[in-house]
Amino acid sequence: MNTNSLSPADSQILADLLAQVKENTQNFMGYPVSKDFDFEELMPFLSYPMNNLGDPFVASTYAVDSREMEREVIQFFASLFRANDDDWWGYVTNGGSEGNLYGLYLARELHPKAMVYYSESTHYSVQKNLHLLNMPNIVISAQANGEIDYHDLENTIGMNRQTPVIIMANIGTTMTEARDDIAKIKAILKKLAIKNYYIHADGALSGSYSAFIEPRPAFDFADGADSIAISGHKFFGSPMPCGVVVVKKSNRNRIARSIDYIGSIDTTITGSRNGHSPLFLWYTLKKHGIEGLKKRAQHSLAVAEYALAKFKEIGLAAWRNPNTITVNFPEPDLAIRQKWQLASENGWSHIICMPNVQREHIDELVKELSLVTV
Ligand SMILES: *Cc1c(COP(=O)(O)O)cnc(C)c1O
Repeated sequence: MNTNSLSPADSQILADLLAQVKENTQNFMGYPVSKDFDFEELMPFLSYPMNNLGDPFVASTYAVDSREMEREVIQFFASLFRANDDDWWGYVTNGGSEGNLYGLYLARELHPKAMVYYSESTHYSVQKNLHLLNMPNIVISAQANGEIDYHDLENTIGMNRQTPVIIMANIGTTMTEARDDIAKIKAILKKLAIKNYYIHADGALSGSYSAFIEPRPAFDFADGADSIAISGHKFFGSPMPCGVVVVKKSNRNRIARSIDYIGSIDTTITGSRNGHSPLFLWYTLKKHGIEGLKKRAQHSLAVAEYALAKFKEIGLAAWRNPNTITVNFPEPDLAIRQKWQLASENGWSHIICMPNVQREHIDELVKELSLVTV
């Protein structure tokens, strides 16, 4: 037993941090992070050095892991995203950005000479990933609601018809949660007779619950996506950032390399991989089940609708994309933005009605907003 303990001063620092984290978690509506989770049952696992290094579907000599749960999580999403029965594979990532990096990496291995197209509303991490992968790319303009401009996409691809195409589609942009329509994008590729292409769906927030919406947005494998990345800490909720990427198994096989040292196959991006996060995701999926998750989505959509109506009532030029949980409104005072941790861009702010957000929170925010607007 280790008898070392923190000095009183360091214990105080820790206690202060805990108080600050608690306080700051209470009031935020500006970032897509669910906070209604309880993982008490999983606490004993924090005493073990869990690590899922290597491929989740291939056993490793390192056996303190949660690979079995990780496989179940991937299977759940492969089925939710309508992947072909025998042609799916994936892993639990460190977040949506790693899933996007993985999708682009696979796409580049399949089409080394391709041009990448993505809209100007794309998450900032995508440009960094393209830089890391050294992939040539063209930014396409976005419509006012944040969705990709299909005319610009068609014209731009049309000018480069000899080049294979990689599309990074947004299933819910960061600021306005706009969804690019994968069916429309496929139709453009068909019209231009592009033979070699790859479509990756960045579904960080919105892809996590789009399968529960009617009419179902065109975002998954059945609609034409070749890979999909989501974040695990956004809609589902997790104490640590995590995510899921699902790809076609046939594509993944092209990059697999066998590594003696770990007794597994190296198909993922990092070496060591979080062995706890798959367990947290698995627990969440088991606890809620499909019906519970559907209810969470419906709750969020209803609260977003409520918020939009309330904002309009006090005269704000608020709006939202159909079937999304993000409500946009003109950027309020700094004090309000700071209190509720509201992200802003080009004079607009938004709240994101994550499953933990209730009508009372909206009422409180609206009350504060109305005090400064009159
Ligand atoms: C949050 C987000 C990301 C990044 O995901 P992380 O899980 O934070 O790495 C990428 N794309 C979009 C649209 C996002 O909203």
